[in-house]
Amino acid sequence: NLHGKTALVTGSTSGIGLGIAQVLAKAGANIILNGFGDIEAAKDRVAQYGTTPGYHGADLSDETQIVDMMRYAQSEFGGVDILINNAGIQHVSPVETFPVEKWNAIIAINLSSVFHTTRLALPGMRERNWGRIINIASVHGLVASKEKSAYVAAKHGVVGLTKTTALETAQSGVTCNALCPGWVLTPLVQQQIDKRIADGAAPESARDALLAEKQPSREFVTPEQLGELTLFLCSEGAAQVRGVAWNMDGGWVAQ
Ligand code: NAD
Repeated sequence: NLHGKTALVTGSTSGIGLGIAQVLAKAGANIILNGFGDIEAAKDRVAQYGTTPGYHGADLSDETQIVDMMRYAQSEFGGVDILINNAGIQHVSPVETFPVEKWNAIIAINLSSVFHTTRLALPGMRERNWGRIINIASVHGLVASKEKSAYVAAKHGVVGLTKTTALETAQSGVTCNALCPGWVLTPLVQQQIDKRIADGAAPESARDALLAEKQPSREFVTPEQLGELTLFLCSEGAAQVRGVAWNMDGGWVAQ
């Protein structure tokens, strides 16, 4: 039961973030949404659980906008109890032709933003002696795939930052952990399926081929399943789960 707790979910207008926001709302948490696109639709999805979500449109590649978002959380909701660092982008290209601006954007959004939200949320969590920081890393925080240099570097960085934050908060009521999903069918992955089709893959089998390469279950992980794991990490039963990188990946990294 998360009544009275406030959860900030970055990148929650779509995909995994929106799924997690809904599960937390259902458990009674106040929700602050962030991200681009169809903001009203995302708000409606959360509001069906009887809570009016907050929203801040910070572009997480910009540190000053993150500061502004955390100020908003403080003034409107009294701070952040549950921080879900979820926003992320992808770009697929060999390292020697990887666009430099894509590298910079991926490191800023997928990694540096986690540092900024964490450093800004921690003082309030320590004051209340309760907090949950859950970083949505990836199986790519544990293993690599070709043509994803920036993403793999950023996600390995997120796993490292998770461990350091967990150690620094180990003697407090604040925990920090990472989730490492395998393939989840969201716009981020659909974009990679579309690229394979553009590169000549058969449209009817592109999705199955993507799964077959890496995910032994041959089924996608769902945002709802990741929401349930998030909910467990928010519970008192998970109070001594600290600094883990927990994969939910249909067997991807067991191979
Ligand atoms: P998605 O594209 O559906 O959603 C990404 C969200 O981030 C959107 O709400 C978008 O508006 C927001 N966003 C993008 N750039 C932003 C910025 N600069 N500032 C603020 N918000 C921004 O993607 P998704 O698949 O749901 O991915 C969510 C997270 O899960 C990412 O960190 C991703 O790396 C990770 N992940 C995804 C998969 C997968 O298979 N889909 C697997 C492992 C990890």
